[in-house]
Amino acid sequence: MRPDILNPLFAEVEALKGVGASLARPLGKLGLARVVDLLFHLPVGWIDRRSVDLLDARDAGSIVTVPLTAIDYRQTGGRGPFRVQAADGAGNCVSLVYFGGNPGWARKLLPLGEARIVSGKLDRYGDELQIVHPDHVLIPAEAEALPEREPVYRLSEGLTNKRMGQLAGQAIGRAPDLAEWIEPSLRAKHGWPSWHEAVTRVHADPADGPARDRLAYDEIFANQLALMLIRASSRRRRGVPLAGDGRLRDRLALPYALTGAQSRAIAEIEGDLAQSTPMTRLLQGDVGSGKTMVALYALLIAIEAGVQGALLAPTEILARQHYETLSRMLAGVGISVAILTGRDKGRARESTLMGLADGSIDLLIGTHAIFQEAVAYKRLGLAVVDEQHRFGVAQRMMLADKAERPPHLLVMTATPIPRTLTLTHYGEMDVSRLDEMPPGRQPIETRVIPSARIEEVVEGLGRRIDAGGQAYWVCPLVEENEASDRAAAEARWVALKLRFGDRVGLIHGRMKGPDKDAVMAAFQRAELAVLVATTVIEVGVDVPNATLIVVEDADRFGLAQLHQLRGRVGRGSGKSVCLLLWGSGGEGDPGGRQLSDTARARLALMRETNDGFRIAEEDLRLRGAGEILGTRQSGDIEFRLASPERVAALIDMAKDDAHLLVDRDGGLEGPRGQAARTALYLFERDAAAGLLRSG
Ligand code: ADP
Ligand code: MG
Repeated sequence: MRPDILNPLFAEVEALKGVGASLARPLGKLGLARVVDLLFHLPVGWIDRRSVDLLDARDAGSIVTVPLTAIDYRQTGGRGPFRVQAADGAGNCVSLVYFGGNPGWARKLLPLGEARIVSGKLDRYGDELQIVHPDHVLIPAEAEALPEREPVYRLSEGLTNKRMGQLAGQAIGRAPDLAEWIEPSLRAKHGWPSWHEAVTRVHADPADGPARDRLAYDEIFANQLALMLIRASSRRRRGVPLAGDGRLRDRLALPYALTGAQSRAIAEIEGDLAQSTPMTRLLQGDVGSGKTMVALYALLIAIEAGVQGALLAPTEILARQHYETLSRMLAGVGISVAILTGRDKGRARESTLMGLADGSIDLLIGTHAIFQEAVAYKRLGLAVVDEQHRFGVAQRMMLADKAERPPHLLVMTATPIPRTLTLTHYGEMDVSRLDEMPPGRQPIETRVIPSARIEEVVEGLGRRIDAGGQAYWVCPLVEENEASDRAAAEARWVALKLRFGDRVGLIHGRMKGPDKDAVMAAFQRAELAVLVATTVIEVGVDVPNATLIVVEDADRFGLAQLHQLRGRVGRGSGKSVCLLLWGSGGEGDPGGRQLSDTARARLALMRETNDGFRIAEEDLRLRGAGEILGTRQSGDIEFRLASPERVAALIDMAKDDAHLLVDRDGGLEGPRGQAARTALYLFERDAAAGLLRSG
């Protein structure tokens, strides 16, 4: 149970003064439903409100704060704006402009002949200076109240900074004093304020480093502590050692021999599974290195040992593909395989759920639906997670709940995940690498081509498909906007259809699931020769006969993404080509863009190497771990106070501190332990706190 002291923070925002439905809605858009959300909705920047003595035309365009005296009122026409002519101490004039509304209000705010401190954006209007709707008009005695750095918040329509500031103030007012959970010497060393002081200070001064660091640290600490408790509890509960007898693996009729790297990874996994400590292993291998086969072996070992296995795919398309590939391979093995995604409804879903519960299904493949609450397994023993970097604390808790004893976990990825990330999400993981490609692969030839030459590209595409080949045509992410992505893809599809007829298919994120499946299946069966797509095909799709991929506006993609896309070809024995087009030269881009130096360098790197590790490392260097961490963008709130940079800087300390605490006081019973419990609830790692009781 959440400690009572936190209750005021976990009340709905409507509990605050002046917040009704009409304000709750825009707050909700920002994910701010409870008081604590407002408290942790930190300013993203600030406006400098330090005042100057005199107006200066050179400041036009920026915010100024300056003492002014109103000298005249003007109103042009009946409906024109109301203007207050005001002068500074040297007689420089500015007009303060108020549109609409009631001029009485401006007159009251700025009586003629009286000095006021005015703050707002200074603009030039013809020869004059003006400030439209000043942000602040204060009598000099009140000017103290104006902070030098006024916080700026992320807003949605219907909210203003001022309002956010007030709400934050109310939230702070409800924030209790909490007992300290940080090791005192650590706090002293960094000069960190108490928690309460820190939340107060970050809202007053967004540039307050120690206060920000402290809050980030708290959040990281709570996360590390949660991971440690999960780990400790799964140790305590122990997993089920799984020793397969090989009978199912023997029945697999493989069309090829395993690579050395695959065999090594499988052996490592087999070793882990035989232990009673649950496995947490990361399988890293470049696109096309054959991770699926390793997963299959791991799952078969588990099933041989009498438990159920689950394979989690990041997208619907991949889940179906895995389902089809594995079902085909497992046809002669004699186990029962099922699929479950958000799309499976009604009777089919019911029967799958029953099969899982009564143990008649051995292997379940699907999207994250497979670990949701309604899904009960008879004896889940191994979970394999494919290409999902955000399998965080919450997901692991759900997984742990799926079995009496914690299942073994294998996570597969083509991205070399930085250590901070595995630490934040998993505590720690053991790593297996597939550092060897299946034999017979020909390197993919990559060419960088200005899109002015798109006609030649289409010609080449024609020759290839006439010769029986297949190709992907990837359309760019025009904006962070699915509708316009789709429009771009649809336009290209129409154009290519005019040329090549019904052999051209289209797939994009907004299509209905069954429609997507139908298109993918047609492409897999080679009924379609060209697949025009948005990045929905990015991860994992496997059609070995496809040997050409064209990526439009390639300079707008991240390196790792391009590498993933390129990995869609070069999967069979045919020679594959990847064409990276840049500079769309289309509407709104008449002359074609110039390629920036970085973009040029990135595309050159793509041309130069097929080595996914090199590319991923370069990509990380360019983007920082932030995007892989995916904190802000994704709405997945693993961390909301700690920026990726702070995570990188503070995580080792937080880990050591959490370790120390758990070593000394594993039940979190002492005063610091109790305080740390509160931190778990404050940062909503309660599930982990729950483990303490059941421990
Ligand atoms: P990824 O690591 O990207 O998930 P996949 O598991 O999809 O790679 O495998 C890529 C392709 O390589 C598939 O078509 C698969 O059948 C094939 N493959 C996997 N292992 C081998 C092997 N040992 N020899 C030959 N081909 C293999
Ligand atoms: Mg894969």
